[in-house]
Amino acid sequence: MQREHTVPNSSAIDNAQNPVTRRRFLNLLAGTSAALLAGTSVNVIHAESLVDVPTTRSAEPVTPDEALKRLLDGNARFVSGKATHDHQNAARQAEVATGQAPFAVIVSCADSRVPPEIVFDQGLGDLFVVRTAGNIVDDVVLGSIEYAVANLGATLIMVLGHERCGAVHAAVEAEEGTAFPGHIAALAEAIKPAVESVKEHEGHDVEEAAFLDLCVRENIQRTTASLAAAEPIVAQYVRDGKVKVVGARYDLDEVKVELL
Ligand SMILES: [Zn+2]
Repeated sequence: MQREHTVPNSSAIDNAQNPVTRRRFLNLLAGTSAALLAGTSVNVIHAESLVDVPTTRSAEPVTPDEALKRLLDGNARFVSGKATHDHQNAARQAEVATGQAPFAVIVSCADSRVPPEIVFDQGLGDLFVVRTAGNIVDDVVLGSIEYAVANLGATLIMVLGHERCGAVHAAVEAEEGTAFPGHIAALAEAIKPAVESVKEHEGHDVEEAAFLDLCVRENIQRTTASLAAAEPIVAQYVRDGKVKVVGARYDLDEVKVELL
């Protein structure tokens, strides 16, 4: 988190005339969760009231469609070998040192061949990136996404899976009976519903590589759908038209991002 900023109060979180600070916002959220866990009555903070949460912005907010265009334009530059590497210079370092306003959240696979800043030709402060093998979203990842949306003003959430994903492949193997050591089993378990769904709809006759790719796509689409419906914050922003959630697949051969 950044250092604490004092900003004018415009939020329903605090009806008093006192300024609301970032830390106070986070404390309020934490307090709400704790009280809910304790079964006590609290004033629930609705997602709508988070819209005006104080933040430090270093750029004008963009619409979800503008954010998507920025990403796709950046990937087109990368594909054509004409990446501009904007926002990777000393001026940008200074600009974002005291605040950030990433225009998009990328929930991508941790695979070393799919770094979002590179494949979308973006720089410092542009993307809020959360990465797990198999682009899985658990509560901690969701909390990170909610923070980027509610507090940093990101308007697009992209779930980015990719061709020949090792984590999805592990889930396919786990489905066929392979036991994985340590916590890799948990990873495979999280992706398993996507594999089961493809198996159910496609049967067993699909060629192995094609089957894996169907599972990759299904896993992306499931994560995208569950994120778009994730209450109380992301779903509210989606209903209000303030945020879009899209799924995309990165092609390792073509280095191109395809929207699903
Ligand atoms: Zn992967």
